[in-house]
Amino acid sequence: MITGKNHIGYSLSAEGTKTFRTFNPKENTENKEVFTEATEDEIDNSAVLASKAFIKYRNISGTKRAAFLRAIADEIEALGDTLVHMYMQESGLPEARAKGERGRTVGQLRMFANYIENDAWRQPTIDKAMPDRNPIPKPDLRKIYIPIGPIVVFGASNFPLAYSTAGGDTASALAAGCPVIVKSHPMHAGTGELVASAIVKAAKDTEMPEGVFSNLNSSGIEVGQQLVSHPKVKGVGFTGSINGGRALYDLAAKRKEPIPVFAEMGSINPVVITPKAIANRTSEIATMYAHSITMGTGQFCTNPGLILTIESEATSKFISELGKKTATIDAYCMLHPNIHSAYTKNGNEVISQLETTLVAEYKGNPVENYAKAKIVTTTGTAFLNNPKLHQEVFGPFSLVVQCKNEAQLLQIITHLEGQLTGTIIAEKEEYAGLSELIETLQDRVGRIIFNGVPTGVEVCDAMTHGGPYPASTDSRFTAVGNHAIMRWVRPFSYQDFPAELLPEILKK
Ligand code: NAP
Repeated sequence: MITGKNHIGYSLSAEGTKTFRTFNPKENTENKEVFTEATEDEIDNSAVLASKAFIKYRNISGTKRAAFLRAIADEIEALGDTLVHMYMQESGLPEARAKGERGRTVGQLRMFANYIENDAWRQPTIDKAMPDRNPIPKPDLRKIYIPIGPIVVFGASNFPLAYSTAGGDTASALAAGCPVIVKSHPMHAGTGELVASAIVKAAKDTEMPEGVFSNLNSSGIEVGQQLVSHPKVKGVGFTGSINGGRALYDLAAKRKEPIPVFAEMGSINPVVITPKAIANRTSEIATMYAHSITMGTGQFCTNPGLILTIESEATSKFISELGKKTATIDAYCMLHPNIHSAYTKNGNEVISQLETTLVAEYKGNPVENYAKAKIVTTTGTAFLNNPKLHQEVFGPFSLVVQCKNEAQLLQIITHLEGQLTGTIIAEKEEYAGLSELIETLQDRVGRIIFNGVPTGVEVCDAMTHGGPYPASTDSRFTAVGNHAIMRWVRPFSYQDFPAELLPEILKK
């Protein structure tokens, strides 16, 4: 049952007077549940509790933390259809997506549980003493990674489960030994509360210290800002827009004690199609991209928003086919009326720029909150000269740029903002000549996909989900896969310690 209250440690609390409701974009109506925004005192309580919990939680063994993560996964599954229905009611996303995302969420929790059962991830490193070394004796040094402290997690609107309350940031921070305070996303506060109740139950059942997890409601930016400014908070995980991520990054940097903000933000994910590929596989590539652009109504951070080609007859044919195929795919609703209006506004802004043409858009008359997919084209010169064409249009939208030649295409990539992904579509006989393209693209992105589509992020150790700014605020880390845990730890060295005072993993 939804209470609309905040989970602060093991208590439910609703001291505030500011309330809000979530929205069903498919029905175009407000949902009935009422949520109470967290007050300053409640925010402070959650941070103080998290800080106290940290002292105990960081010393709980990997095996016990793993049991906690597995219990969270089990409790999320035990929510059954209640969770699926709430997810659909608050996002408009279909049942198959709800179930798929739930599977991914519990899969991530169990993946981190397996990873931390063995302390190898903490990279114990031993440099034994050399007392007889000349001219200076060498001390005994032993290093491991230790957790940094309470983490605030901001989930994204477009992943109510996998990048939210018990999503990758929460799972990796809890795995590392850091308590988590979630700033619940206002668009899916009910989904968030259900998942929060599962985490709290798992924490109690596995005897975790109170304050290891809290979930706070908010309908505006104030709760998040207060959390990031709180002196007991030691790190931030954010998934969302560039504006939001940057604002929180700046806020964290201005604190008396600055803290790291790992923000995964927007991206237009450039796709390069070579002249031979576009000529040989016109139809196949157009079909593949029409589906990728419209998948999930384009509401993925890896959506292919920019397609780079070299002008030719084959390119014109490809653009026309891509437009026709995209325009025939059924429209679907976006996550929220605000996201729908931002999509329309940002798309129109791109289309209104000089030397930009709307190739095709969905022909039907979609109902409220349903998005019309759009394919737009422009020249390489116009793209280079106009930063407005570089902005993310969050939704089923792609801009196809027709470059004069390969040199201009490379120049465009060089001038692109940092991106999560880049994609190369090429023919086998061209592979030998691709090294300059690969290296130029590598400088701007976190992952290159070859002869495929950027949508779909596999959760595994070799995945990099991040990239140069503004794709993320720290390109040295990934937000997906086991290695995401490294965002929440710091290296620590013991010098000349007696064996009995060393942690077990460093006693050798
Ligand atoms: P958003 O508008 O940035 O909101 C994300 C969260 O941040 C919300 O809880 C929001 O709170 C909060 N927030 C935003 N601005 C803030 C500020 N100035 N101060 C404090 N808190 C602030 O993003 P969204 O609409 O949820 O998500 C869509 C975006 O996420 C797209 O750009 C997409 O590309 C990106 N995304 C990236 C990834 C990735 O892994 N890189 C994955 C999914 C989505 P309020 O709503 O209460 O204001």
